[in-house]
Amino acid sequence: MADRTPSVLDDQTEVGSYFVATYPPFSAWTTAAVETDGRPALERPPVPGVPLGLYLHIPFCRKRCHFCYFRVYTDKNAQEVGDYLDVLAREWELYASRPALVGRPLNFVYFGGGTPSFLSTRQLEGLVGRLSALTPWRDAEEVTFECEPGTLTEAKLSSIRGIGVTRLSLGVENFSDEILELNGRAHRSPEIGRAYAFARSLAFPQINIDLIAGMLGETDENWRVCVQKTLELQPDSVTIYQMELPFNTTISGNLLKGTGRFDQPVADWPTKRRWVREAFEALETAGYSVRSAYTAVKDPSRTRFVYTDRLWQGADMAGLGVASFGHMNGVHIQNLDTWETYAAAVRRDEIPLNRAYRPTPEERLIREFILQLKMGSIKPGYFKEKYKVDVLDHFREGLGSLASEGYIAACDENRVALTREGLLRVDGLLKRFFRPEHAGIRYT
Ligand code: SF4
Repeated sequence: MADRTPSVLDDQTEVGSYFVATYPPFSAWTTAAVETDGRPALERPPVPGVPLGLYLHIPFCRKRCHFCYFRVYTDKNAQEVGDYLDVLAREWELYASRPALVGRPLNFVYFGGGTPSFLSTRQLEGLVGRLSALTPWRDAEEVTFECEPGTLTEAKLSSIRGIGVTRLSLGVENFSDEILELNGRAHRSPEIGRAYAFARSLAFPQINIDLIAGMLGETDENWRVCVQKTLELQPDSVTIYQMELPFNTTISGNLLKGTGRFDQPVADWPTKRRWVREAFEALETAGYSVRSAYTAVKDPSRTRFVYTDRLWQGADMAGLGVASFGHMNGVHIQNLDTWETYAAAVRRDEIPLNRAYRPTPEERLIREFILQLKMGSIKPGYFKEKYKVDVLDHFREGLGSLASEGYIAACDENRVALTREGLLRVDGLLKRFFRPEHAGIRYT
C-alpha cells in the first residue's frame, strides 16, 4: 500500500481536494475507457440483485457560492432551463432502453446540483412526469432532494413532497447573514426558518440540515450559535462538512492569483475538526447518534441513507445531466462536462459520456473499504464474504500506521473502528490505502 501523503493533512487549509468521494481518483478515469468499458457496460444485462439508482443533476443556482466546486450556471433564463430539462428527459430515454437498465425498477433517486429547488413547480412536475412515465419510482426506497432555503415556497415544497420525495436536504450551511454574505450564499437566515417550518408541516419523512464548519468569517461564538439553532429545529439528521478549497472554487482562484480579495483565511484543519467535534458532542447530548464523519441522526432505527449506502456498496446508478457521475455493471462513468457538448451529444441520441474507469477487483475492494471507514467502523466479516479477503491482513500496513498514530479504537475480526479523532480527519487518512500509482496523483 502507498505511504501517507502529507499535503492536505497539514494544518493550514491549502488549495486542493480533501474529500474522498470514490476510488480510484477521478483523474485516473479516461476518455479512451468510454468506448472500451463505459459503453459496453451499458449493453450488458445487469448483475441480478444489484440495485439501480438515478441521479439528476440540476446545475442551476441563484448565485455561485465562493467555495463552490460544482458545475453550476447562474445565468440561464427560463427557456434555457426548459431546454436543459428536455435534454435530461431525452437522456433518460436513451439510458432506459439499454440492456443494463431496461425494465429495472428504481431503488433510489437523488436530485442534486446545483440547486434542484431552483426549478419552478411547473418545471419540476413536468420533468418528473416525463421521467416517471418511463420508469415509475413510487416504490423507490428513498428519493432525496437538495434545496436552497431561499428558493422554497410552501407551494413548491408541496410539489416536491407530491413527486414522492422522502428525504429533503436543506443547504443551510450557516445561520449568520454576515457569513452567508461573505461566502457568496444566496439565502439569508429568515428564509431558513420559514422553509423549515413549511417542510415540517408537509411531513417529509426525513429532513436533513447541511452545515459547513469553517466558512470565511466563522468564529467560535458564531459556530456555537449555529449548532444551537440547528438543535432547536430538531432535524432528523445533520450533515457537517469541513470547508475545503478544491482548485476550481472562486476562493481558490483568488488565493492562487494572490488577488487579496478574500483576506480572511479559511480556518485551519485543527480548528475545523474542533468545531465538528463540538457540534457532534452537542448533538449527542441532545440524543443524536454520530453515524459517519459528517452525519448525526436523531433516530438511527428510522434514519437511513440509501443513496450513499447503495453507492458505496457498488450499486448501479445512471447519472443524468452535465458532468454527472454514474456507475454501471462495474464501470464508473462521467458525462461530458460542458453544457454545449453534453446537450449536443444527447441531441445526437448518444449517451453523453466523457470519461470512464473499470476498477480491478482490488480497486473495488479498496474503494468499499475506505468509503466504509468514513462511517467510523467496518466489519471484516462483510469483506471476507463479499471479496474473499481478510482485510486485517490485506490492509495490515495501513491499519498498523493508523493504530500507531492513535486513530484506531478497535481492530479485530469483528470490527475495525476509528477513534473520534480519526473519524474527524478520515479523508486525510485514506490515501495510505490507495495503490501506489494513485497515491500522488491529483484527485479530481
Ligand atoms: S448552492 Fe451549492 S451548488 Fe450552488 S453555487 Fe452554492 S455550493 Fe455551488
